[in-house]
Amino acid sequence: MGRIDIDALTKEYSSPSGPIRAVERLDLEIDDGEFIVLVGPSGCGKSTTLRCIAGLETVTSGSIRFDGTDVTDEKPKDRDIAMVFQNYALYPHMTARENMAFGLKMSTELSADEIESRVEEVAEMMDITELLGDRPGELSGGQQQRVALGRAIVRDPDVFLMDEPLSNLDAKLRAQMRTELQQLQNELGVTTIYVTHDQTEAMTMGDRIVILNDGQLQQVGTPLECYHRPANRFVAGFIGSPPMNFLEVKADPEEGTLVNPAFTMPLSESLAGDLDSTDLVLGIRPEHVSLTDAPGTHSEPERLIETEVTVTEPMGDVTNVYLEVGDETITGTVDGHVGAAPGERLHMHVPASKMHLFDADSGRSVKHSDEPIDAGTLADADSQVETV
Ligand code: ADP
Ligand code: MG
Repeated sequence: MGRIDIDALTKEYSSPSGPIRAVERLDLEIDDGEFIVLVGPSGCGKSTTLRCIAGLETVTSGSIRFDGTDVTDEKPKDRDIAMVFQNYALYPHMTARENMAFGLKMSTELSADEIESRVEEVAEMMDITELLGDRPGELSGGQQQRVALGRAIVRDPDVFLMDEPLSNLDAKLRAQMRTELQQLQNELGVTTIYVTHDQTEAMTMGDRIVILNDGQLQQVGTPLECYHRPANRFVAGFIGSPPMNFLEVKADPEEGTLVNPAFTMPLSESLAGDLDSTDLVLGIRPEHVSLTDAPGTHSEPERLIETEVTVTEPMGDVTNVYLEVGDETITGTVDGHVGAAPGERLHMHVPASKMHLFDADSGRSVKHSDEPIDAGTLADADSQVETV
């Protein structure tokens, strides 16, 4: 079993310039068999969190329980975990076979035959049978990482902890390993906590993602919850690529509008209702922007903003178009067939159903799209969010 409960986990490092709070009162409940991705920018506390769960760091305060048992002060070897790191950490003088068998020899009572057959079985699963006689120096980065994963899998732990295991691989191999790892985790059903700074990895791999910034929990949710209902401006800007656009606006509830120096946009009825603050930030994702050169015939002329194209980035299937709105630059991701050239004046359309509003001061989400916020979901999301 591999249920993990983290309660108010805090980790401070001491440094000459005073304590560094790497993780601050982190609460997290992870179900048995879940694939959890810890994601956030470099230095936000991901590795520290993972190392605390592994028992490689002593915690400053808070507790960690495995299946209800407090393991906060237990040694790594007494927690049923296997770790995989970015730099493989294989023993250079041992063959792949010896690397995979080593942990089992040290930590179990299994006979040499049993160890051998487990290594063979996992090697087959990982498609590395032919590499078992090779030393790490003879293997490519991708092969080494397979052996490192195999070494974790043979231990048959309750929990896998993985710290950016794919980041040394080239883009193509990374994408392939991402899919394989997901399949493998599905088959094995072992609780996995996977650390990455890459939001694409987080979105594609996690059952749920845990977004950290500056040692603080920002949101816990399924990838789609975090995409559609980001708890705050940080999450909104971190999840999604290119990132969400933000425009400062003032709400005018009397007129039912959002006002920016460069445009006035109607608020739909549901968005207008009980707005706490009039100083807001309008969030709109690049993929929800569309462009027209014929505002006169558009079905929603009141939702058009006049812009000028500054740069275009054709990607083939889509084109990223950079647009000037007042002093701001907005990114629109439009169909690759749409012709737009620098200097061209176009109108961008912002659909009523794809708007996000954030409080300008706190950054917290105020409303998402045209739907009133579903109290149930949001209550959950809120309870997982620390004020930023
Ligand atoms: P991430 O893995 O998200 O990039 P880390 O958990 O490695 O972040 O680091 C979080 C913060 O703690 C950073 O400010 C980092 O500089 C600091 N930190 C990490 N390890 C140590 C350490 N051993 N001593 C002092 N500060 C540390
Ligand atoms: Mg790290």
